[in-house]
Amino acid sequence: MAAPVLLVTGASRGIGAATARLAGAAGWHVVVNYARDAAAAADVVGDIVAAGGRASAVRGDVGSEEDVQAIFAHADGHGVLKGLVNNAGVVDVAARVEDMSAARIERMFRVNVLGSMLCAREAVRRMSQRSGGAGGAIVNVSSAAAKLGSPGLFVDYAAAKGAIDTFTVGLAKEVAGEGIRVNAVRPGIIDTDIHASGGQPDRVARLGPELPMRRAGTADEVARAILWLLSDAASYSTGAILDISGGRSVVP
Ligand code: NAP
Repeated sequence: MAAPVLLVTGASRGIGAATARLAGAAGWHVVVNYARDAAAAADVVGDIVAAGGRASAVRGDVGSEEDVQAIFAHADGHGVLKGLVNNAGVVDVAARVEDMSAARIERMFRVNVLGSMLCAREAVRRMSQRSGGAGGAIVNVSSAAAKLGSPGLFVDYAAAKGAIDTFTVGLAKEVAGEGIRVNAVRPGIIDTDIHASGGQPDRVARLGPELPMRRAGTADEVARAILWLLSDAASYSTGAILDISGGRSVVP
């Protein structure tokens, strides 16, 4: 039987790459989406194939409707889409709201919110039993920032992730009777490149020891939760938002 297809957005690095590798080992045909780093995406595909799994890479900006449609057309070429991980996300450098440009806020919501909603739309069109689909599972990657608000750093990012939490709850209820489960993970401080992208390459080393578990998390620790939410082991979970934050809740 053909492997079910899983699209992981932003899977060339960090949490997305870890999720793609675990999903390949779990028997999914993994579509590894990336924005710019073709070599990193090729490495992830190579690792999955070397381990006996199936995978392919596709470039595309999730903030572009045209690109999203092309990404899903690529996925359709590999079989039946039964999973989506809305992982692609961006931050920006630390700033107060009063200093944020419209372009910055627009990018934050275009990639993190519009991108996730467009990908979910395409997934639901394919998975919904209402339109003859075979069902499936969607996992959105939110952030502890949605609860913390990230004052003085990136309130725009936190607000975008808050939208992802609400989107998760609403979409979960909308499609719960159509064979689709929709859940989210809310990672805390995870050791990936994203902190350097936000101008704080030392963020993991600086904040890790101050967290309740006295360390930052790894991309694999988030990926394992995502894989569980995608799997039949989570068959009665929908609309759930799982904190993967080492106990981080209201501390900065
Ligand atoms: P990362 O290491 O910076 O990787 C980001 C990934 O997203 C890369 O594969 C990148 O692809 C891709 N990407 C960026 N913009 C894209 C776009 N417009 N379209 C498609 N792909 C795009 O990030 P990460 O830390 O793994 O974060 C992954 C997710 O977890 C994000 O949603 C983030 O907000 C969330 N999160 C992370 C943390 C953390 O501490 N790391 C905490 C909470 C939540 P290219 O390399 O090809 O550009």
